Amino acid sequence: GGVKRGIVIKDEWPGYSLNLFTYPEHYQDDIENVYIPHGLIMNRIERLAHYIMEDFWDNNIMVLCVLKGGYKFCADLVEFIKILGRNSNKYLETRVEFIRYKSYLNDQSTEDLHIVGNTDLSFLRGKCVLVVEAMVDTGKTMQALLKHVQTFEPKMVKVAGLLVKRVPNMAASLTDYVGFEIPNHFVVGYALDYNEYFRDLNHICVISKNGKMKYKV
Ligand code: 5GP
Repeated sequence: GGVKRGIVIKDEWPGYSLNLFTYPEHYQDDIENVYIPHGLIMNRIERLAHYIMEDFWDNNIMVLCVLKGGYKFCADLVEFIKILGRNSNKYLETRVEFIRYKSYLNDQSTEDLHIVGNTDLSFLRGKCVLVVEAMVDTGKTMQALLKHVQTFEPKMVKVAGLLVKRVPNMAASLTDYVGFEIPNHFVVGYALDYNEYFRDLNHICVISKNGKMKYKV
């Protein structure tokens, strides 16, 4: 079923030609295509908000946003949850907390996963938690984070992942709400970065060879 996997993007999907959309001019040579247009991202997030409202019922939602890549997804998801609440007169209280993980250098996952800044998540105790992450690739980051979250004994934990990569030994089962299942490309935009670049791009795009070279550290 496609519901659990989200919108499945096939291996051969070439993306949309850049000149069909608007995007920051300074990235012209640095991206191959528009892989997922911003409008489609928003429509999908609205649907995820529906699922989440159904599952959380009348429980308050403690949103745990994984920075930095998750900030736009989180902001838009929480906004849709509020709009749906307003339109159905069924408001869920949402509170947002942030956690930061560092694991990537260039386009390579590094072995050492560590939380940057505050590691005390005791405010999650007894709460219904929604972890919001832009990208689940190998799932190593999410696994480590969930293990950490569980030590604070929340009542319930669900995971929303905007993008889940179709890779060997897929970790999709970690993700309760999947936006899109994508092939194993390195994508940027919509707050996903490559060495801090491309967060200011609205669409999700595939980085070009030129872009990888230009912004390598
Ligand atoms: P995992 O631990 O699941 O292999 O990796 C998850 C993390 O890797 C995400 O939080 C994200 O920061 C980073 N990541 C994995 N794939 C991509 C990608 O295609 N683009 C970007 N910008 N980051 C990625």
